[in-house]
Amino acid sequence: MAAQSVYVHIPCCRAKCAYCDFNSFAGLEGYLAPYVAALVREIESFPFSPSEALLQANESVHGRERGVRQDLSFVSAPSVVSPVEITPHSFIHPMKVPGKETRVSTVYFGGGTPSLLSLDQVQRLLGALSSLLVENAEVTLEANPGTLDYDYLRGLRGLGVNRLSLGVQSFDDALLQAMGRIHSAREALEAYYQAREAGFDNVNLDLIYGLPGLPDVPEFNSGTSGEGYLARWNDTLSRALALQPDHLSLYALTLEPDTPMGAAVASGQLSLPDEDLVADMYVLAEELLEQAGYAHYEISNWAHSETRECRHNLTYWRNQAYVGFGAGAHSYLDGYRYHNVPNPLEYIARLERGESPVDEVSFTSKETEMAETMMLGLRLTREGVRRAAFRERFGRELDEAYAVPVQELVALGLLEDLGEAIRLTPRGRLLGNEAFARFLVCEHQAADSR
Ligand code: SF4
Repeated sequence: MAAQSVYVHIPCCRAKCAYCDFNSFAGLEGYLAPYVAALVREIESFPFSPSEALLQANESVHGRERGVRQDLSFVSAPSVVSPVEITPHSFIHPMKVPGKETRVSTVYFGGGTPSLLSLDQVQRLLGALSSLLVENAEVTLEANPGTLDYDYLRGLRGLGVNRLSLGVQSFDDALLQAMGRIHSAREALEAYYQAREAGFDNVNLDLIYGLPGLPDVPEFNSGTSGEGYLARWNDTLSRALALQPDHLSLYALTLEPDTPMGAAVASGQLSLPDEDLVADMYVLAEELLEQAGYAHYEISNWAHSETRECRHNLTYWRNQAYVGFGAGAHSYLDGYRYHNVPNPLEYIARLERGESPVDEVSFTSKETEMAETMMLGLRLTREGVRRAAFRERFGRELDEAYAVPVQELVALGLLEDLGEAIRLTPRGRLLGNEAFARFLVCEHQAADSR
């Protein structure tokens, strides 16, 4: 399957947010120039073929399966030893394979904080990518509102960036401060208006819910039913909707214990809303966004019209092939999942020495590919998983491969059967992980019975 999308990882941030465990680092801005040079080198080595590279390498060690990106981490199955054993160093990459033409329809600059790139650096990267892009490709850049001004945004638009994803996270200054964000609610508003003025007609806002209550904000501590949490989330949502963004991504906070906010929760300094309250926040968002005319097309994503759905992320959810460039970037190509070394300095050093940046590779078995297609596809709350597409891709009937989980999940009210497709019910959206786990179990049963 040819790659549909390209992801470019920019691992620098001005400051590390208190809840963040992404592959991003404060204090590395001084390395952006060699990092961009390394990226250009990696990009220019494409297209290559993992399978052809492996055949030529003719070596073997084992690989483990890993998730795609943070927001797709549920794909991470318990580790599966691949049928083809692989060593990262035998996986010759970068390696150009002549005649393997690839054109992708989306590019996504993610991070980290891609808006720390200078306009010259964005131009260099887009120049390196230009031979891979179809006309009218969707080109998204994630931006931190604390790093933007009108001239920069205008410059980005002029370079061909046509979708801006603003990491607003909240319009609540107390919560922004607790999160360690480098911007205020007012700066986020200004960035949004400047983006519109600069010509961006496709703007996403990222928001986070399920954030901890704040000990010195009485609203969070009154009563036990969570009205304070809901009221403040309602306020953030209302302020976001008043802007009429084209797209909204709403993420429930997941805290790792080794982050400052995770440690504060573990020590009792901060307390998280309980699961029911987080579910109430999600339901509140569903209601408000529906009233405002947004289509809920993925568990965590809403678009004002179909043309504003994130084409890049649809590649992930449809389990299609993509290539990631940069430190820690993940790729899924020709049946292989692999990712680069996460450390940006090691990434730069490897590329400068002309070595492969690939850190880990695994082969995706058919059973795994089917399970991932189900789990990712069911995230698409409107289209779900289409039976005909499944049949065409795997040469099997969905109902034959997954008779038991589909029947059980329909009986539990988590899945609905539309005939042409199956998809999650509103209750299923709240309990998505429970539904997805059943397809993983099936995958392992299938693998065990081989
Ligand atoms: S700006 Fe984003 S990537 Fe950077 S530290 Fe904050 S949450 Fe993490």
